[in-house]
This record gives sequence, structure tokens and C-alpha cells, in this order.
Amino acid sequence: MHETLRPIYERVLSRNPGETEFHQAVREVLESIGPAVDKHPEYAQAKIVERICEPERQVIFRVPWEDDDGGIHINRGFRVEFNSVLGPFKGGLRFHPSVLLGTVKFLGFEQVFKNALTGLPIGGGKGGSDFDPRGRSDREIMRFCQSFMLELYRHIGEHTDVPAGDMGVGGRELGYLFGQYKRITNRYESGVLTGKGLIYGGAQVRREATGYGSAFFVQEMLRVRGESFEGKDVVVSGSGNVAIYTIEKVHEMGGRVVACSDSDGYVHHPDGVDLDLLKEVKEVRRERIAAYAEKASGATLVEGGSIWDVPCQVALPSATQNELDADGARALVRNGCLAVGEGANMPTTPEAVRVLHEAGVAFGPGKAANAGGVAASALEMQQNASRDSWTFEHSEARLRDIMIDIHARCHRTAEEYGSPGNYVAGANIAGYARVAEAMLALGLI
Ligand code: GLU
Repeated sequence: MHETLRPIYERVLSRNPGETEFHQAVREVLESIGPAVDKHPEYAQAKIVERICEPERQVIFRVPWEDDDGGIHINRGFRVEFNSVLGPFKGGLRFHPSVLLGTVKFLGFEQVFKNALTGLPIGGGKGGSDFDPRGRSDREIMRFCQSFMLELYRHIGEHTDVPAGDMGVGGRELGYLFGQYKRITNRYESGVLTGKGLIYGGAQVRREATGYGSAFFVQEMLRVRGESFEGKDVVVSGSGNVAIYTIEKVHEMGGRVVACSDSDGYVHHPDGVDLDLLKEVKEVRRERIAAYAEKASGATLVEGGSIWDVPCQVALPSATQNELDADGARALVRNGCLAVGEGANMPTTPEAVRVLHEAGVAFGPGKAANAGGVAASALEMQQNASRDSWTFEHSEARLRDIMIDIHARCHRTAEEYGSPGNYVAGANIAGYARVAEAMLALGLI
């Protein structure tokens, strides 16, 4: 780490005790941006990095709700408004029992750079709750979302802060959240949330965008190496929204996804994942991956193993943070993996990234590779603002162009700053430079 950044990092550690994921995310960025700090002494003068590491605003609130049997539950809600120098705060909501303030801060911090990389006018933020949606009825989910919005509504708005989905928050939840916002405010403010249903202000390709975008990004990484998805075996961890639409696009591009997973285990399906069945199980029936393994012929469920042991040429971790560790990375290298693209946010541990880099595996960090979701959200905001809606084809073409552009920007920046082929350096420096330039221009804010 650059010597001027070390004290800044130490201060992040001491001011945010115990928030290990946030520390990890900050460290990764600070370890990359040294060359940009040398090039721009005016940023140090204005304490840009110190300011970037401190969220503009953090909201923590109580979310009481009643289950179907009349039992009362108290959860905690969060919204971390990290940086709004490039546009309204923008980023998803995560509902998962593991969510702590530090989780939301790591995600919000990543989002600032990711959103900057898209080149679209969006700042960075993130929110969520430690609510566990697993096993909850539709009505319980609705009551929780309504209670969550009863506090959140006062902090958000189409020009202020625009949440969307993340783990545990999809079309159903966004519908309940939007309905409650509309009722409280008496405004049909479509642009306040993205990822909405198509019938009430949603945008074509938003649902598919993170997964499609990740496939487009990795296709570019492969192209640079004279390769493509054609005929390749691919492992995609997870089986949620990101994984499903990554699989769909990889299959369209001629690859074969041979494994996917959830927190119970992974499915190995050497003939290729049956996407219609996977969608039926996960999107319609909201069942576990074990139900897929039971119904799909030729598929086996492996509980307690590592999905990264499945031989593949491309690996796309698309489940959750720190799911791909150094052992997993070594297994991928051993089996001849060429490229890894992060569909999830920070799914690869720092040691695993080192292993992949040392072995010459192309590695696309989440803030670049999975930026398609938030980019499509920005396009949804654009359509909402103009009361327009675009076709699927037009929206997908825009998404593809954006991902190609992000790839090119990361690739070029890495080369410019002396780390050719290092997309982590490229993404962090390019994202940082954009945010820093705008912060300098806007004065001490
Ligand atoms: N949760 C997604 C992400 O990690 C999407 C955020 C959004 O669309 O605002 O980027």
C-alpha cells in the first residue's frame, strides 16, 4: 500500500471496529490506487481518500413486524448513503440474517466505484436488514417490507437515494416496497426504486442484467486472450437472480454450465444445467437446489464439498462474499481454469485473488464484472424520468455496450498505470479517478 494511504487505512480500522468485510473492501481499493495518488497530489491535498472512506450518511432503524401466528419480531434496517458526488445514492437492499452495519458498508463502498465505472450518473449506497426471508409466507414478506418502508421512505427519493434489490430482495419485495412508498407519500414516483415489475414502471432487461452483464464482461476478458465461451465448461456458484441469468447468457454464447449451488450444497450436472427446470424450481416454486437435483436427470447434489473442485475453464462466483477461498482458487488453477468473473460482490478472498493472478488467470472483480445490474437500473431511472419504455433488444444492446466499455476502461487503465492485465487495479483506479475528480470539482463537501 502507498505510504500516504497506510495511515488512512489505519484510521478506517480504528474508527470502524470489527467491520471486517468493510476493512477488506477498503484495503483492496487502497492497495490499488497508489499510482493514481502519485499522479494527482491535488487529491491528497483535498483529503479525497479520507472523504471517500467515510459514508455521507448512515441510517439504522427498528423494523417491527408480526408473523402469521401473531408472533412479534424486531429486525434492524440499514441504509448507508455512501457517496452522491456523481448522482443520487444508488444501490440495492439485502435481506439476509447475516447482515450487519459492516456488511452494508462494504457493499456501499464497492457500489461507489462500481457505479462510477458505468459512466452513468449514479452515486453509491446500500441498505438492507438482518430479516431472514427463508420459510416466510407471502403475507409475512409483505408485512415486513411495509414496515421497513415505513421508515426508509423519508430517506429516499428519485433525486436523493434510489434503492433496488440484492440478495433476498427481488421483484416481489420491490413491488411491496413500492406500493408502500406510493401510499405513504401519495406520489407515483417511479424513479424512487429500480428493479420494479414491468407493469408498474420497471424496465426490460433489468431482471437479467447482472447475469447477462457478467457474461458480457467475461466474454471480453476471454476475447482479449483469443478465447470465447464456445465449447467451454463453466461453473457458476449460486442459483439466485445473478446465477440464473448468467447461465442463460453463457448457454447462448456456446458455453456449458456444469454446476451451480445454494448454501446447502452444489449440483453437478455434466450435460449442462437445465435452465427451464432451474427457473421453475427457484423463481416459481422458491425451492432449494436439492429439489432441482431430484428432478434433473444426470444431476447429482453434493453436500459439504467445494463447487470449485468441479473442473471448468471459466468460473463465475455469483453467490456471496468470500465464497471462493485460496484452496478453491488452487483447485481452479489445477484444473486449467482460464478466467474468473465475480457475479457476486467480493466473492473471492484476497488470498484467492493472489493465487489467480500469480497463475495468470484472467480475473474480473465484481465492481466491474457485475456492474450490469446497476447499469440497467440507471437505464430504468432514465426511462422513468422520460415516462418512456424501451424494447428488450434496445435495452440489451445498451447493456452490452456499457459492459464492453467498462471492460475497455479497466483494461486501458490497468495498462496506463503499469499493471497490464490486472482488472482489479484497472477497476479501482478508473472508479477512484472519476469519483475523485468530481469531488474536487464540487468543493469541500
Ligand atoms: N444489488 C445490485 C448490485 O450489487 C444492484 C444495485 C442496483 O441496481 O441499484 O450492484
